[in-house]
Amino acid sequence: MAAQSAGGTQMRSARNILQAPRIRACAVALACGVALTTAAATPGGAAPKEPLLGYSPANIDKRVSPRQDFYRYAVGNWLDRTAIPESEPDIGAFNQLEINLDKQLLKLIKDAAAASAPAGSPRQQIGDYWRAAMDVKRLDEIGIKPLQGDLDRIAALAPGHPGALGDLSGQLQIGFGFSPLVMVGVDTDAKNSSAYLLTISAGQQWLELDDYAKPDRQRVRDLYLAYIGAMMRGTGLSAQDAEAAARTVLSIETEISAAQLTPLQSVDPDVTYNIMTLGEAQALIPQLDLAAQLRALGMAAPATVQVPNIAALKAVNEVLATRPAGEIRTLLRWHVLTGRASFLGQPWRGFDESFKRQRMELQADKPREREVTFEIAVLLFSPLSKLYVEAYFPESTRRDMTQMVGHIKDEFAWRLRNNPWLDEPTRAAALDKLAKVDIQVGYPREWIDFSSVVIRPDDYYGNAVRVGEFRQRRRLARLGEPVVVERFASPPFTTPTSVNAAYSPQTNSIDITAAIVQPPFYVSSADAAVNYCTIGAVIGHELTHGFDSNGSRYGPAGNLRDWWTSQAKAEFKKRTDVLVKQYDAYTLLPGVKQNGELTLAENTADLGGITLAHAALHRALAGKPQPRIDGLTTDQRCFVAWAQMWAYKGRPERLRTLAATDFHANSAVRGFAPLLQLDAFHEAFGTKPGDPMWRAPKDRVVIW
Ligand SMILES: [Zn+2]
Repeated sequence: MAAQSAGGTQMRSARNILQAPRIRACAVALACGVALTTAAATPGGAAPKEPLLGYSPANIDKRVSPRQDFYRYAVGNWLDRTAIPESEPDIGAFNQLEINLDKQLLKLIKDAAAASAPAGSPRQQIGDYWRAAMDVKRLDEIGIKPLQGDLDRIAALAPGHPGALGDLSGQLQIGFGFSPLVMVGVDTDAKNSSAYLLTISAGQQWLELDDYAKPDRQRVRDLYLAYIGAMMRGTGLSAQDAEAAARTVLSIETEISAAQLTPLQSVDPDVTYNIMTLGEAQALIPQLDLAAQLRALGMAAPATVQVPNIAALKAVNEVLATRPAGEIRTLLRWHVLTGRASFLGQPWRGFDESFKRQRMELQADKPREREVTFEIAVLLFSPLSKLYVEAYFPESTRRDMTQMVGHIKDEFAWRLRNNPWLDEPTRAAALDKLAKVDIQVGYPREWIDFSSVVIRPDDYYGNAVRVGEFRQRRRLARLGEPVVVERFASPPFTTPTSVNAAYSPQTNSIDITAAIVQPPFYVSSADAAVNYCTIGAVIGHELTHGFDSNGSRYGPAGNLRDWWTSQAKAEFKKRTDVLVKQYDAYTLLPGVKQNGELTLAENTADLGGITLAHAALHRALAGKPQPRIDGLTTDQRCFVAWAQMWAYKGRPERLRTLAATDFHANSAVRGFAPLLQLDAFHEAFGTKPGDPMWRAPKDRVVIW
């Protein structure tokens, strides 16, 4: 289920090519005001043919003119052939790759489970985690017992004791990874990337902001109430008490959510960089003793802290000050139940699955094997990634990619030097920053050592808690220590097995994961036009993030520092305003529009990415023959490959959620919208005034 994580600003500040492997970007389309179908899954009956993964002329629908509807032209046959799996909210090139990836991971996991390996080794941990997770009979027998200790602690909580609340909040955080009251985190200081800062935030909530606030989200709130009610009845409450408990939880969460930051605010350092003493932070929430929470987490009290959202902390305090103790206990009970339901047997896990399924309008649950595979990829990300890279990531791919990265970086530097709208001071600073971007491909230079985590073949719940605690303590222990930059270490966003690439402004670095360097993003045997305009464009996309409205606030060493002149800023904004207007015009569903402001940084990066990739392609091909292949010119293949990378279908519920929360435009919009700004696209397909894909040269914008 989606959650607004209060911790993990590291994760929030990274700009990914897509949102996350399973919380993924994008949605179906609409080309120039003509809605394409949001085709629901094919119910039963004829199974769709296995869709082709990656660039293929067979995906093109030749009945459609590229000048009329380029996205439909490029991916029409794929759309006709592909159905959304019953257990998925959407389908696209990203999930197709993930389905493939899961097969590879599953094989590694099953092989590990079948072998015996030394205690603490990746194979032992992965194999035993799998065995414990798949023993569902045992899980059903154990029932809710693993939660009993936490539930008893909550039942014994005396009202009006800030120390007891702080202690409990800390214990929940360490055992579960999150607390519904206050979350303590450790992040690098945005203004001093060589030091860590303690962050104090309002706790975790389980629905999206819109779900709490908007009248048209009543359906989700009703499902949520039913879910809470079912869980509470399961713990022995009467139907009437369970219903009252559900209303209490929703009402408290709604009250706190009203003070939460919007997605754009949450990545805006002008909003979140609030530094104060621990005493000042404590004054915001007198009902909960922060020092007690720090003690429970095994941490010393620092002199200064960052409070990313002051209003939300006050809102939690207001709840603690005004609600009866029984209601606070109900909230805490709910948090324990739902936070760990997926690690229990039936009926608990079933309540959780049923809520997720209905909320996302799915027809079936994901097979348990895939759920557990994903869990291992997140919890034991380092051990599993190590096995994955050894088995599936050839060094030759890493070499190829590193070379392409060099070409694209050179192209960007050339374009910065020749950029007509940058002034000289900003240009010099940009070139300096670009030279210092550290790009790594595939996997980290050093693996995180998980060997001390005890993983047992008969303790599924305990395994999850121990891994969570290991990672939590490791992170929190950093405070006061020299900064260690860990790469490929933010599951589920950027580990070697995440299908993703991400730029981090705080380290001025890009991680291109091993899992994304595969079809459809990269095919070692494919021609240059295809590889440059897929994985090359992904690299270009990430590179330009260091120079967009967010990245340009950070200097080359990752410190929050304004290095743009006001003139350069004004010139940049003049150009990005064009993109805001362009994307605001796209409608995803009746009443659901793309938000040009929310998606601006990603749309700017998409335009930069395909521009750099296309230019670098021609640099690489200079002087070489450029034959037509599959009847397409070099440029035609480049742009078709770009569009096919974004082939996508999503359920309406999915499109709605993403439109409100995702920094990326809908995939199908990404498939054609940036191309309309490129002269080369219009030349390649001969668009003319009056064509839906036409955009007059004076209206096209070149940013990088
Ligand atoms: Zn991005």
